[in-house]
Amino acid sequence: MKTMVKQLMLGLLILTLYACRVTMGKKTNVLSQSQQNTSVTGQQVAKEKENPAPTAHKRPRHAPFKSSLPNTGSSELVYRSPQYFLYKADSLQIASARDNYFKNLDTIIAQLSVTPDSKSNPAVNTDQWYAAIDFNIRRPNFVILHHTAQDNVAQTLFTFSVPRPGRESSAHYVIGKDGKVFQMLNDYVRSWHAGASKWGSITDMNSCSLGVEIDNNGKDEAFTDVQINALIILLSYLKEQYKIPQANFIAHSDITPGRKEDPGLLFPWKKLADAGFGYWYDSNNLKEPHPDFNATWALRLIGYDVSDPSKAIQAFKLHYLQKANTYSLTDYDKKVLYNVALKCM
Ligand SMILES: [Zn+2]
Repeated sequence: MKTMVKQLMLGLLILTLYACRVTMGKKTNVLSQSQQNTSVTGQQVAKEKENPAPTAHKRPRHAPFKSSLPNTGSSELVYRSPQYFLYKADSLQIASARDNYFKNLDTIIAQLSVTPDSKSNPAVNTDQWYAAIDFNIRRPNFVILHHTAQDNVAQTLFTFSVPRPGRESSAHYVIGKDGKVFQMLNDYVRSWHAGASKWGSITDMNSCSLGVEIDNNGKDEAFTDVQINALIILLSYLKEQYKIPQANFIAHSDITPGRKEDPGLLFPWKKLADAGFGYWYDSNNLKEPHPDFNATWALRLIGYDVSDPSKAIQAFKLHYLQKANTYSLTDYDKKVLYNVALKCM
């Protein structure tokens, strides 16, 4: 019996020693591998540091999209009703919109990750890249206000979710008539809301601005107080966050004379100016223009594209006199123009 116990213990000892040897062997392998890695030349290490292997971009954590609609089919909804568009918008968000958002984001990240070199920029005629170390992402400096000219806010959420090749458009924010504010894009990305446009000497307004779409049919519909108050809260945040000057809260119609008319005649510009967004004038205390006052120069000073002066006048009157389709200036209009221009000096 004693012999059997001795044999069993010996067997266990042999097994334990074997197991230890296997484990130690594995450790040795790992070490030898890393030793192999560190045996690369200094030049190789430097190269790897400059061009690290691409790593997958980590997605920000965000709650999954949850539709607020009851579980119905679109056939049960009234065609083009808010519920109908919300159903379509929600379906697109779940099926593709968020995936497409992140695909676009990946493209931007890849563009930002290209380090300066003579291969990507033929004007660079030196091989060595000296990295500057102090930088961050560019900030928006304008806010462009639009009306949606659509039936309801859900229709706009749908429009900005659906791929429309050749007719792409987007905005950073959409504000419903009930004061609900939707942010659809990160403020730092270039949204496609301005189109062909010019303000001052800037010809790429999308690159320097945020687009805010205000739900309104663009015809005879008044903007609601709750909607404008929500807009003012949003603009206050943006003004503070990005140090946007008062003069740079303007209309889509301002930057597209003769092409666009939004947010239109009914937009409460004075209320906005009183809150610190855009300029207005004191109609009870208008200063007389100088005898040599030049209206075209004044329009240009404010920012209008004056390549077609009559269109610039029309855009100015739409905003500051709230009159449509007039292409000439009365004496009163000139006085208003002079007083607005004074604010922009
Ligand atoms: Zn617009």
